[in-house]
Amino acid sequence: MTVNKHWKTFPDSKQIKASCPSKIYAEANGYYQDVVKDAWISKDVINVAIETYGEDISVELRDKHGEVGGSCDCHDSKMGYWCWHVIAAMLHVADNMDKLKEEHDIQMESVDYFMSHVSHKKILNFVSKQLKKDPNFYNLFVEHLRLQNVHLPRNYTRMLNSLYSNTKTQDVTFEDIFEIAREERNAGDHIEAARAYSSIAEHIITTIKDAQDDYGYYKDCAIEAIENLTDSVIRAEMSSDTKKQYIKYVFERATNPVYRAYWPYYVESLKTICTEEEDMSHWMSLTQSNPKTGDPQQLASMQAFILEDAGRWDDAADALLPYYANDADTCRYFVSILKRTDDKRAIRDARRVVNAFPTDSQILDEALPIFVNARDEYQQILRYLFEATGDWKYFFKLKKISSDWSLTLDTIYNNLMATAPERSVQIYVKEGMHQKAIDSLETLDNHDMYATYLPKLAKKSPIRYFELYGRTIQRFTKSKTGKDHYLKVMRHLENIQTIPVSEEMFAKFIKSLKTNNTNRRILIKMLKEI
Ligand SMILES: [Zn+2]
Repeated sequence: MTVNKHWKTFPDSKQIKASCPSKIYAEANGYYQDVVKDAWISKDVINVAIETYGEDISVELRDKHGEVGGSCDCHDSKMGYWCWHVIAAMLHVADNMDKLKEEHDIQMESVDYFMSHVSHKKILNFVSKQLKKDPNFYNLFVEHLRLQNVHLPRNYTRMLNSLYSNTKTQDVTFEDIFEIAREERNAGDHIEAARAYSSIAEHIITTIKDAQDDYGYYKDCAIEAIENLTDSVIRAEMSSDTKKQYIKYVFERATNPVYRAYWPYYVESLKTICTEEEDMSHWMSLTQSNPKTGDPQQLASMQAFILEDAGRWDDAADALLPYYANDADTCRYFVSILKRTDDKRAIRDARRVVNAFPTDSQILDEALPIFVNARDEYQQILRYLFEATGDWKYFFKLKKISSDWSLTLDTIYNNLMATAPERSVQIYVKEGMHQKAIDSLETLDNHDMYATYLPKLAKKSPIRYFELYGRTIQRFTKSKTGKDHYLKVMRHLENIQTIPVSEEMFAKFIKSLKTNNTNRRILIKMLKEI
């Protein structure tokens, strides 16, 4: 039973009569039983509804510390005159006080009863509507629940949009929002910071995507925002359950076509925020449940990463198997995983890799260790890598394991003659096979090549080298005219002069050069100075 602490006492008709002019009392006393239609208590107020001459009048009686005060909304009352309605209301209440109190108590009880039988949602709905309609109720609510210092969360999207529309003609700057985010971080509110950073990235990627961005300013801002979002999630040290929503958020962007240009950054974010086994398995379940929008290769790469993290190398390789041939990056990733699988499987799939990228030195180099136990292929790849890159480490590795080195050398030589003839001489020089080297120079028959290898080879067989080089100089001299050309000839003569042959042989050579070019007067003049 709810007991109202008000209305413990109410004046009786005698006291009422004494409190007003007798004329008013007489009128009220004469009519009140006919005109009072309803009365009810709500706390310290008793509302009384009166109908007279077809007019609805409401009277409120207030309990002010045991004294009754009345007000009426009729015309007379508003003009400041005594009206008989208040007295009529009081007479009615004095007659019916017990009944009114009982009704009030029943009503309070039924409110409690209703509240316990209505869903919270319905109650909240009603309260929310009432709060918007009734300022008094709103104030009462805020005061009672001590909500004075609670503020609406910042609407970053709205802020960003207004930033954009206010500065149509200027470059947009995100410093203000970044600043807010930094402040939230410094204040230790990492969730709020994460919210700000994610809004910046989203805004740039989805709203101002087509803006002119010659200097990459927007892109840099978006990347910075994504990285800071990651950082905030880590700093927030949230529970696995809370983190799930962030993993989902980032995953959705890492697979959404609209965000494609930023996928690598969101993927990087996922790799960073998924620190626990539970995070990883949540990420995995997302890759398995989504796939309508996701790119299958993108999802497979994510799965491979998660499986790899769990040490499930074979499964990781299986995930990538359908996609490794699509691009070099995926292939390199595939190879790095293959290295962790057992030999037999690794070699089997590495062969596929070599077939898919037979000329990609970087991929071949990474796949190379897998073939250590598959001798022929190992040698083939080493040979190819040396031929393609000229890196001597492959050459010496190959020499170490080659079963028939001279045959291998011949093969390399022939291949280089076809693709990079100037390097074919090198392999014989490196091997100390000087006659073979000079043989290949003879095959190449080029004056510049003789000049290049002169310091290394001329002393090994001076007369032969002199004759061969001399022959190409003769031919080169005749190939053109003009002073510039002759200056080049002179440089070759300075070179060939360093070969230790007899003075007589050199003199004979110069003489024949003169005899063959008698009509080139400038050249003859230059030759005389030697
Ligand atoms: Zn009145």
